[in-house]
Amino acid sequence: MAKIAKTFGIFACFYCMNTILVWFRNDLRLLDHEALYKACQKSTQIIPVFCFDTRQIALTSHKFRKTDAIRWQFLIESVENLAKNIEAKGGKLHIATGKPEQVIAELAVKYKVSSVFYHKEVTAEETKVEAALEKNLAGSGIKTESFWGSTLYHLADLPFSVARMPDVFMNFRKACEITNRVRSTFSAPTKITVPADLPLSVVPSLASFGFEPIAAAEPKGVLHFLGGESHAEARLKHYFWDTDCLKDYKETRNGLLGADYSSKFSAWLALGCISPRRIYEEIKRYEQQRISNASTYWLIFELIWRDFFRFIALKNGNSLFFDGENRPHGRVIKQNNALFEAWKNGETGFPFIDANMQELNKTGFMSNRGRQNVASFLVHDLKCSWYAGAAYFESKLIDYDPCSNYGNWKYVAGVGNDPRENRYFNTIKQAKDYDPQANFTKHWLPELKNLPKNLAFEPFIATTKELAECGVVLGVNYPNPVIRLGRKTY
Ligand code: FAD
Repeated sequence: MAKIAKTFGIFACFYCMNTILVWFRNDLRLLDHEALYKACQKSTQIIPVFCFDTRQIALTSHKFRKTDAIRWQFLIESVENLAKNIEAKGGKLHIATGKPEQVIAELAVKYKVSSVFYHKEVTAEETKVEAALEKNLAGSGIKTESFWGSTLYHLADLPFSVARMPDVFMNFRKACEITNRVRSTFSAPTKITVPADLPLSVVPSLASFGFEPIAAAEPKGVLHFLGGESHAEARLKHYFWDTDCLKDYKETRNGLLGADYSSKFSAWLALGCISPRRIYEEIKRYEQQRISNASTYWLIFELIWRDFFRFIALKNGNSLFFDGENRPHGRVIKQNNALFEAWKNGETGFPFIDANMQELNKTGFMSNRGRQNVASFLVHDLKCSWYAGAAYFESKLIDYDPCSNYGNWKYVAGVGNDPRENRYFNTIKQAKDYDPQANFTKHWLPELKNLPKNLAFEPFIATTKELAECGVVLGVNYPNPVIRLGRKTY
């Protein structure tokens, strides 16, 4: 008996020392986090780590930062919220700045962990970091274990191999909906135990990364986005249960103004503050308790779009970023930089485009309708590079996600993998259809507020006298149009 106790004692002691490092990336949550859940199951103590990768805020060749201040601030808030939620479970989040492949490897060795758990990514920069980490750990005997956790449908449950995945969204969606296997969410751990000597980390400030301070929130913005799982959950509760907006989502989703025309989940989804499976589970609960209709289905439909772009990125690898670069429809495009600058700054003289770009620049958000229009305008009307537009969105969007961003840009530019793609948007007609009273346009361009709605989208067709009566002088307080629109189909 004594012998058995001794053996168990040794085993228990060995087990206590079995520490797993959980590397948080774009999965800044406790709920439905397979890597964390499995680490807590397998080990009595874990080391949760987040590393700010400063390569993500470097200047691009276009002379703007890869990640601008608004998204970086949202990331800082999300990490801060994760740290708080981990502390509430008795643990600590170790926060570092540097190259994750080095920082994580050094920590893993220092704390003699048995393995490093993390969620897999699909795009080049992220997978390169994963490979480098594995390389840095080779020789130390520390294993890595990766999990799939970013999509609604699990990679292993797709009704086809990724290599055979349909290139057209509708075919992808229909095939997925036949099997419709959405896995249950993983519960959040009830308790998180970390090594006693793990120091308490300080969350870095925006200024410590060299950013100028940003205004707390742009009052004109659709929503004050606050990073973190707690805020994602609050938004979910608001949109589904408190306001019942979900039941009208299909009718309102093309809106432009206000917090509730669409879910606004994208920023939290991009950093993994909430998982698509968690949203799905809550939609199903809503359908049982309130109503099941075309709108509740449509939110799932949009989450399948998100999955589609992620799996397509996995299938096609780096061509997500480079295929067709500067060559929409096979033609080489020499970009007119003055036009690109005007587009970027929201100074094209086309009010609907400018209003959307002002919103993006000031808040980091733009509606889906706006994104389609400004992307089409840049590529098809200004004849600029879709890739430059996508890179600018990457810098500015609060909800930037490489797969959704580059995938959607290629789709609008007509350089994606779906041969039927080539989405030309008649942006004046779109403005009239989706902003009929010009409320959105005037919201972001108050200098046009006195123009009658029929002129608000095309002030350049008015006479100088008509404009002057409304306080507008083209070239003085609102730009002259940068091009003459070729297609007069509106
Ligand atoms: P909702 O209408 O409430 O949709 C719910 C969720 O479904 C979204 O949060 C998003 O996760 C997903 N979704 C909806 N539409 C799409 C779509 N077309 N493609 C992929 N997923 C979708 N979305 C991003 O999350 N990150 C990006 O970087 C991004 N870049 C885009 C660039 C262009 C040129 C275009 C046309 C679209 C882009 N989108 C991107 C897709 C879409 O515009 C946003 O997801 C949506 O506007 C976010 O608002 P919401 O959360 O209120 O959306």
